[in-house]
Amino acid sequence: MTRERLYLFDTTLRDGAQMNGVDFTLHDKLVVAEMLDKLGLDYVEGGYPGANPTDTELFGQDRKLGATFTAFGMTRRPGRSASNDPGLVALLDAKADAICFVAKTWDYHVRVALETTNEENLASIRDSVKAAKDKGREVLVDCEHFFDGYKANADYALACAKAAYNAGARWVVLCDTNGGTLPHEIEEIVSAVVKHIPGSHVGIHAHNDTEQAVANSLAAVRAGARQIQGTLNGIGERCGNANLVSIIPTLKLKKEFADRFDVGISDDQLKNLAAVSRKLDDMLNRAPNRHAPYVGDSAFATKAGIHASALLKDPATYEHVLPETVGNHRRVLISDQGGRSNILSELERIGIRVDKGDPRIARLLDEVKERESLGYAYEAADASFELLARRVLGKVPDYFDVEQFDVNVEQRYNALGKRVTVAMAVVKVKVAGETLISAGEGNGPVNALDVALRKDLGKYQKHIDGLKLTDYRVRILNAGTEAVTRVLIESEDEKGERWTTIGVSPNVIESSFQALMDSVVYKLVKSGAPA
Ligand SMILES: [Zn+2]
Repeated sequence: MTRERLYLFDTTLRDGAQMNGVDFTLHDKLVVAEMLDKLGLDYVEGGYPGANPTDTELFGQDRKLGATFTAFGMTRRPGRSASNDPGLVALLDAKADAICFVAKTWDYHVRVALETTNEENLASIRDSVKAAKDKGREVLVDCEHFFDGYKANADYALACAKAAYNAGARWVVLCDTNGGTLPHEIEEIVSAVVKHIPGSHVGIHAHNDTEQAVANSLAAVRAGARQIQGTLNGIGERCGNANLVSIIPTLKLKKEFADRFDVGISDDQLKNLAAVSRKLDDMLNRAPNRHAPYVGDSAFATKAGIHASALLKDPATYEHVLPETVGNHRRVLISDQGGRSNILSELERIGIRVDKGDPRIARLLDEVKERESLGYAYEAADASFELLARRVLGKVPDYFDVEQFDVNVEQRYNALGKRVTVAMAVVKVKVAGETLISAGEGNGPVNALDVALRKDLGKYQKHIDGLKLTDYRVRILNAGTEAVTRVLIESEDEKGERWTTIGVSPNVIESSFQALMDSVVYKLVKSGAPA
């Protein structure tokens, strides 16, 4: 059976950049554009040339992407000709394969925001599409507020969409700009539109204000639309845009869509999805959402013992798709509720072979339970669990020994007369019989300790050069009669692989030190450093 082509349009760099706290540099934009291109997106919208210097520079030269590189901008202003509108002229000059115009389609907005007549707005859509076609560009028209406009005045909203299509736009994109439309309304209105414009020329652009942007995009496809616009991780203004990271695997892995549509992303490209999602969070300095569908750390994590034992027999019992298809992996959480089967499946996942009846498994389980009663939480710290398991099984070499450390925090006036706080740490380590002493300075005691510990590990130094800390979280817990601090540290290596380690102690420096040590030792084990 031949499948219909469904096109994916990414607007992370344009609409996604509208989100609070997101500010892409030119370099960031080039990195993201290349990443989207490699993932197999059909369209990459880069920005709004003429609106700011970064976007103007981005479109100042041919970026040579496989995807259709798209520039965004406004239709010509009312009362001006296309050639006499500097904004439009700049857009037409952009080095882009396609131009996506945003046009008003709600008569209320035409009157109040644009302060012009319905007829002049239609003429502006037609003229702008023609001007871009004459320049040899593929043309898309984002019909702003289409669904609200359609509810208020269906004839006029449709007239705008048809004006765009008849003037030669490749795509007429229906936008739920305020994000308040519900899936059944989307399905109904798109069904009505495709009676006038072929669905193969209709797109959907949904915002997430009722948390249904993904559902709305799929509803539009069911009704006949053949292009979906969205962003990576759903970033965007207010509550965000439709999340392509959830939409892509749904289209690829759910039978209803997979049987009918081809999305131009191969199975191999799909395996990069989790990495792409994490890399964007990294660039934006956001902690990844552990509970993100498909790609989150917890998306394939299970806790209860009976689920885990069924999972071991057949993953399909508790998983809707295979985690590997999107580059994620299965996790069985080690916790109070878990039993032997949790431990066994976690050992299998991390590649430790051990006989089911091995008495050390019971010892490991006891150890985990004992530590969890003290405040450790191994389900959140996979690397510390792996080290604990390897230690109980006798598989972690004694790489080095920290004989002593000393941390000092001082507040004083600096040369400019300003009060500053500085932290200093000195660490004494024994590596292969040799004692090494390193000092480090940091903006806080843990930072200073980390700097000093990783400054010189002698023959192991080369294995930890690429190691960096990406997140540090502290929680105060009440365990028994005294309060203890639980520290979770997330680390990353030069290949972008991440892991989390844990430390627990009444003293926050001590718990941080445990977590730091686990992170370094874990890295050494992972790189196969010789003992
Ligand atoms: Zn939008």
